[in-house]
Amino acid sequence: MSTPARAESVAHLERLITALTAKGHVSEDELALQQASTDKASPEVGARMVARAWLNPEWRAMMLRSGTEAVEALGISMAGAPPLGVLEDTAKRHHLIVCTLCSCYPRAVLGYPPYWYKSFSYRSRVVREPRAVMAEWGSELPDDIELRVVDSTADYRWMVLPRRPAGTEGWSEDQLAALVTRDVLVGVALPKLPA
Ligand code: FE
Repeated sequence: MSTPARAESVAHLERLITALTAKGHVSEDELALQQASTDKASPEVGARMVARAWLNPEWRAMMLRSGTEAVEALGISMAGAPPLGVLEDTAKRHHLIVCTLCSCYPRAVLGYPPYWYKSFSYRSRVVREPRAVMAEWGSELPDDIELRVVDSTADYRWMVLPRRPAGTEGWSEDQLAALVTRDVLVGVALPKLPA
């Protein structure tokens, strides 16, 4: 965006904020809280939640009950965001997330969606041939594991709680969190130990 266009956008935004605060639709404090949460939004939040769930059964139970509550327990406001659900992978079932309609994505825990998540190709192929999509990401899912594709919507967002990889016994929360990438949280990839 050119500088004059950017300056104009900023000026528009400032007028909008002034009008909304003047009419009492939003307060300065709410805006500051929202900004702080936006600044913190990244896949590292989701990775932290997962690593903690692998180590702490109480945290895991709380997170499965309400992803929103778990995010807020990390000090990130979910005010105004749709509820967040967490889908737990098991030895028999893997979850993969898509928004077939548009690009609904839990930004608080995953940051901004990657370009492919919004693409028509991903949104259609992941429903028709999810195993092939995963294989392209380098993760082969055994045939005896059921693959459930779940739609994130405007009303409800999802993230995946993957299975803890074997060989990580005794690892710290930070070490475990480093295994949990954005793609793992969407379910297109499985957590992998460094080679
Ligand atoms: Fe959407």
